[in-house]
Amino acid sequence: MNNALDQLISDRHHLENTSDSDVFSKTKEFQKIVGSVREMGMYPYFQALECNLGSEAIIKGKKVIMLGSNNYLGLTTDPRVREAAIDAIRKYGTSATGSRLLNGTLEIHETFEREIADFLGKEAALVFTTGYQVNIGIISALANENTSAFLDKLNHASLQDAVKMAGCNTHYFKHNNPEDLERLLQAAPKHQAKLIAIDGVFSMEGDITPLPKMLALAKKHNARLLIDDAHGLGILGKRGEGTAGHFGLSKEVDLIMATFSKSLASTGGCVAGDFEVIDYIKHFGRSMIFSASITPANLAAASESLKILRAEPERVLQAAKNAQSIVQGLSAMGWKVGNTETPIVPVHIGNDLYTMLLWKELLEEGVYVNPILYPAVGKDKAMLRVSTMSTHTKDHLSFALDKFHKVGKKLELI
Ligand code: PMP
Repeated sequence: MNNALDQLISDRHHLENTSDSDVFSKTKEFQKIVGSVREMGMYPYFQALECNLGSEAIIKGKKVIMLGSNNYLGLTTDPRVREAAIDAIRKYGTSATGSRLLNGTLEIHETFEREIADFLGKEAALVFTTGYQVNIGIISALANENTSAFLDKLNHASLQDAVKMAGCNTHYFKHNNPEDLERLLQAAPKHQAKLIAIDGVFSMEGDITPLPKMLALAKKHNARLLIDDAHGLGILGKRGEGTAGHFGLSKEVDLIMATFSKSLASTGGCVAGDFEVIDYIKHFGRSMIFSASITPANLAAASESLKILRAEPERVLQAAKNAQSIVQGLSAMGWKVGNTETPIVPVHIGNDLYTMLLWKELLEEGVYVNPILYPAVGKDKAMLRVSTMSTHTKDHLSFALDKFHKVGKKLELI
């Protein structure tokens, strides 16, 4: 089976570049591949959970420890967050049924915008329906073909898509490498405006951008700096205020983007910055104007989660402690866990096939993690993405570590 699976995994790489006369041709080819992987019971995506209790879940009737979610503070099942969402439905109904620009703005959108701007240390904020849309909205409003955009190679897809859509002249610098960024800034056409866009915390590696150096370069080269803090909010800084707060640079960073789909136990996202910049994005961000606004329930869940984060900053510390105990446990066994400084713990395997086998064995043993294969990471850089939550108990973590040991020995990976 392993050889067949290996072949199928590599076959799928060719699909993206096919150029048939019928745009549907590749879908048939894909079904052949994915059908075989499903028959082998090795298909890892779109796994339906019967129940998700935060740190534990039920999948195909079996309890698993959830080490594969972005629910870093464990708030998705907090009774206060649930009640806030239900109350919002009672008061406002299930949807705002339109764009923020026209009929889709409720007073709770504006109240929350003031709260989150204050938390992030900025003058103003603007709430969008998803985090993905925030990045598209910011960049579609501010940048165009006369903009040189500078992105870390490992930035999230939403930033990469945003600069493509805006038609920017885009330059990718080596991961977390200010020297490479400076080289590209120096070489960029002098007449173009410059925008540097970087993930605060990298979603697969869990490491942090060297923000002070990146900011100094932005200032030196007259560029604006946008930080995508999807994974920094609730995790970095003493109060969970994110990457900029962690470095004491909230005022200096031009724009901070955050999602509500991780620590804030909802969906949606926002951008925070100076009032006039935010007001401009509000009127020109296409993903805001041409899409219905975040639902009342999602907004209320994010707002309640932010209240809890403010009242219980110890959750931030607990999330970090749980991550450290997993990192130490895995490293001691001989797993390669990279330079993570957050609850995102990459377990580097390299080979796609072994990553899949490891994922499957762990799931059968009751541990849910995510296999990350090309193109989400570079070729031969396959890994498991393990993510801890502040609500994991010592028992959860030691159970998971025992299973990593058992399966790692069985597959001769450690
Ligand atoms: N930025 C980063 C760094 C992310 O990891 C994600 C989601 N995984 C997003 C943006 C998009 O956020 P959302 O899921 O809220 O659309």
